[in-house]
Amino acid sequence: MKSFDEYLSDAEQAHGHLCAGQVLGVRLAMLGLEKLGMDDPQGKDRKRLVTFVEIDRCATDAVAVVTGCRLGKRALKFRDWGKMAATFVDVESGRAIRVAAKESSKALAREMHPEIGNKNQQQMLAYREMSDEDLFATQWVKVELPPEEFPGFKAERITCEKCGEGINFRREVRSEGKVVCRGCAGESYYTPAD
Ligand SMILES: [Zn+2]
Ligand SMILES: [Zn+2]
Repeated sequence: MKSFDEYLSDAEQAHGHLCAGQVLGVRLAMLGLEKLGMDDPQGKDRKRLVTFVEIDRCATDAVAVVTGCRLGKRALKFRDWGKMAATFVDVESGRAIRVAAKESSKALAREMHPEIGNKNQQQMLAYREMSDEDLFATQWVKVELPPEEFPGFKAERITCEKCGEGINFRREVRSEGKVVCRGCAGESYYTPAD
């Protein structure tokens, strides 16, 4: 495990700037890993960890930096709940811890540093100084992780019977007697432009 300051500097580089979200995200991920007893998430523990993030803001980048979990490794799962929280799953032991930033931490930051007018600067300093208990709520949880959600899972690709595009690892849908992709099944996020 690197130190808080080392991770923060890595996060600043990966994210493009230093902000309160980086401080929060680094601490959130370090706390989750500590609870799971993982001290080498990018080394010996790298195949043990899957992370669910519940927000797509600044802190998410910091969580990815500390955990080493990436979308491209299928180790980072995004659930768009708009909540400053993440769940860290040890796939070896099945243990999982959800860490959520307390909404009260913003007001506490104001109380701790009323002399700092800039909110980002105020939170950046206060989030460094606050205790884990003031900053976060933690909960042991169970996460059902089907085989195809595991980073290393491999299975045959199949072809969508409507559009003909290839589909990976059990992401196909059965619809009206056909095996189709989620787009053709009606879940599409796009429509043709013309
Ligand atoms: Zn940011
Ligand atoms: Zn299709």
